[in-house]
Amino acid sequence: MFSNNDPRLAQLLDGIVRLASGELHSRIEISEARDELDAVIMGTNLLAEDLQIIYQELEQRVESRTRMLNAAHQELQRMALTDPLTGLYNRSALVTAVNDAQTQAADGGLPPALLLLDLDAFKSINDTMGHSVGDQVLTGVGQRIRACVRAEDMVARLGGDEFAILLPGSTLAQATLVANRVLESLNGTIQVDGKNIRTGASLGLRLAERGETSEDLLMQADIAMYASKADGRNKLRVFEPAMLHARQLRNQLVGQLREAISGNQLVLFYQPVIELATGRVEGVEALVRWQHPTRGLIMPDEFIPIAEETGLISALGNWVLKTAVDQLRRWRTDPETSRHDFSMRINISAADLQRLEFIEDVRDTLAGSGLEPALLVLELTESAIIQGNELDRYTLASLRRLGVGLEIDDFGTGYSSISYLRRLPVDRVKVDRTLLTTLGSDPAQPALIAAILQLIRACGLEAVWEGVENAEQAEHLRNTGCISGQGYYFSRPLPEAEFTKRLADQDIWPA
Ligand code: C2E
Ligand code: CA
Ligand code: CA
Repeated sequence: MFSNNDPRLAQLLDGIVRLASGELHSRIEISEARDELDAVIMGTNLLAEDLQIIYQELEQRVESRTRMLNAAHQELQRMALTDPLTGLYNRSALVTAVNDAQTQAADGGLPPALLLLDLDAFKSINDTMGHSVGDQVLTGVGQRIRACVRAEDMVARLGGDEFAILLPGSTLAQATLVANRVLESLNGTIQVDGKNIRTGASLGLRLAERGETSEDLLMQADIAMYASKADGRNKLRVFEPAMLHARQLRNQLVGQLREAISGNQLVLFYQPVIELATGRVEGVEALVRWQHPTRGLIMPDEFIPIAEETGLISALGNWVLKTAVDQLRRWRTDPETSRHDFSMRINISAADLQRLEFIEDVRDTLAGSGLEPALLVLELTESAIIQGNELDRYTLASLRRLGVGLEIDDFGTGYSSISYLRRLPVDRVKVDRTLLTTLGSDPAQPALIAAILQLIRACGLEAVWEGVENAEQAEHLRNTGCISGQGYYFSRPLPEAEFTKRLADQDIWPA
């Protein structure tokens, strides 16, 4: 039997206190006596053993749960920073990386360079070959870009067909080298589903200044990229402050153009198409101008591209269509001018072919005017049709069924695929004026003109020659057997009142 002052009681108490304080590995010693007190001590030790095991298991579980949580957290973070399609980084990752690179630059390093890249003609790949092919092209492009840069450079997809490359601590020379390598690697074709698809990109480059925000840097690279797009395909442009000014002017112009379309500031000028053998007006081309309240008359080359980029072209085109058709109706009913019998020609843009409502606009306008559809001829540039897709073909065929005339404009400047000429539902071709400019100076030119005429006729079409500026050119064309011509020699494009007066006074052009 143990007594009240048995030292083991104190040991037991001490041991329990240690266990309670978390020292689960501690054990209480058992005495030689092996009496009841030792039995309690053994029981306590067993409990401690169990507790220790349970505790270890718990610790392991907590550890593995923590690991899983961490992995999930990292995956979430990765997802928040990557573009799911290409596996490249996304915009928010790029912004973070730009900020990091700028922090390093502030500590004495070189500032980063940012390259923005936009694929040329990606929309038409998507439209003609479907989104799955488009997605594969984007993935392939991403891989090619990645292969052009070092591991520490960041490649991101910002959305659509826009990519960015961040070169931390870069010089202009290094960045230009990388940019040209990227351009080179994308200038060609990419294989998808056994098909070769043409790629090509426009690149804008901006070397950051210390302390510049990611927002400014992205904006400047974007401006440079747009300047490169405007320059033509597969180009690199480095940001210059003058571009910023140009962009501001352009934005201002966009706003003003929107008002101009609804606010009666657009005007049509008219230029005759002449039957070369007789001097009779067989057609009139409507050419739009913008009567700007402060800048005066602005020519279409300056605002049509802007209207096309911003989508204002549909409203503008619609205004041209209605105004020109209404003008033709008036000339045909006014007794002063009604002895003339000619068609009205308007220029339509590639974007119009992408709108199904365009067919309805044309049908409604014609119906409203009571004019025969054949009196309206739509001029389309070659490149607009060649870049075309299913929708284009559908629109062209529908317009054709309506009975309006279709003509390829600026022939000879674009792709000039003969097989294409034959397949297109057009009735006439307008030969670009550059083909006439060297007539008289270049001895080979007459042969070229004859050859082009032959080619067009072989496709079952007729040609209108544009840019006829003098009597010799008109004479030469007539002698070659050309039917129609247009140009300053016959008349410059004239305001409505002046043109109406000429129609009233004159039967033969030039009189
Ligand atoms: P385009 O369709 O090729 O129009 C012919 C252009 O050549 C006109 O320039 C005309 O003024 C000019 N031109 C005519 N005869 C001669 C000549 O003998 N010599 C020379 N050097 N030039 C001549 P404009 O009016 O500045 O129009 C430029 C372009 O703007 C047009 O080229 C057309 O593509 C576009 N455009 C004009 N009006 C419209 C429109 O209403 N809608 C659309 N979408 N585009 C339009
Ligand atoms: Ca034209
Ligand atoms: Ca033309």
